Amino acid sequence: MSTEAAERTNLLGLPREELREFIGQLGSPPFRARQLMNWIYKRGTHSFAAMTDLAKAFRAHLALVAEVRAPEILSVHRSSDGTRKWLLKADASQAFEMVFIPEPDRGTLCISSQVGCALDCSFCSTAQQGYNRNLTTAEIVGQVWLAARELEREAAEPLAGSERRVTNVVLMGMGEPLANFRNVVPALSIFLDDFGFDLSRRRVTLSTSGLVPQIYRLAETTNVALAVSLHAPDDALRSELVPINRKHPIAELLQACWHYLDEQNGRSVTFEYVMLDGVNDSPAQARALARLLRGHPAKVNLIPFNPFPGAQYRRSPAPVIQRFRDELLQRGVLATIRRTRGEDIDAACGQLAGRVVDRTTVRLGNKVIGVAVQP
Ligand code: SAH
Repeated sequence: MSTEAAERTNLLGLPREELREFIGQLGSPPFRARQLMNWIYKRGTHSFAAMTDLAKAFRAHLALVAEVRAPEILSVHRSSDGTRKWLLKADASQAFEMVFIPEPDRGTLCISSQVGCALDCSFCSTAQQGYNRNLTTAEIVGQVWLAARELEREAAEPLAGSERRVTNVVLMGMGEPLANFRNVVPALSIFLDDFGFDLSRRRVTLSTSGLVPQIYRLAETTNVALAVSLHAPDDALRSELVPINRKHPIAELLQACWHYLDEQNGRSVTFEYVMLDGVNDSPAQARALARLLRGHPAKVNLIPFNPFPGAQYRRSPAPVIQRFRDELLQRGVLATIRRTRGEDIDAACGQLAGRVVDRTTVRLGNKVIGVAVQP
């Protein structure tokens, strides 16, 4: 790659204010940012030459110093249920994944925020890969930009009765979004900006394993929907499943959630709860969960466990999951069961693995002998 190309600014990484500043420095009036964003996000254009309502000299200048570059696609897998999974290039040796889930009334894009994950949840396939780095804002925004283009390109192919546009974005792919706060927050602002993807705040969901201080910071900066991976009704079990719980236990986490709703005038927090056979799925545990959440603006989303190679858990049987849901409903806690999608292509929750060169653990053969980078 030439030095010139390496120094180009990727405009997918700049929220509106920063884009205004950037083109201001090029000597262009800041209101051109709006035209540029229109081309990039509404029309899906990456070629400055095609942006015909911008002055020719400005386009030529942009082409020298800027680019609109989404991650490169390494492979695409299509599930029999219409779900697609893309493997995207992070660098020469690493890759991350995004998943599109078409439904009759919506098209949900599940995007990644990191290459791997450092949080080490025992039931998650991404955790097994280890952690390498944060995705940049341009790589996060680039996923939505790319999916929109790819889905448009495929528009000729039938997708029986399902939405094929990206109407919802969920940060539920690889990585812990709040551990990449710096790059995730500007991406959220591009998702919501009416000159960007123009998504309503209720159609963008950030899912976190429970980084409490960052939830408070998030409440000051954005108002997207919040989902929290709870997975257990007590600290002993949650610390086993979601190790970050040892640092930020359930009571503190719930306080942060209610604070987020107060600040953001939000409707409710969704609590994700993976159903693990014989581990967290008993009626007594459902009742304990109901005691935690009753009377609060909370919804529970029960996720049947999705297996992956080397997993130490089994999925709870369907009747056990239904019973768990009913225990919650009877106690006035809203609960739904997440329909598993894309299982045949390993695109379901917790199955995203990508290709990650782990930097967090120092191994000698198969044995972990140290931790090099803290989350
Ligand atoms: N790190 C964030 C974002 C990941 S979201 C978070 O933890 O919330 C992915 C969701 O799928 C989380 O709720 C996660 O706990 C859940 N999940 C992980 N592994 C799973 C598996 N094997 N089966 C079902 N759900 C899983």
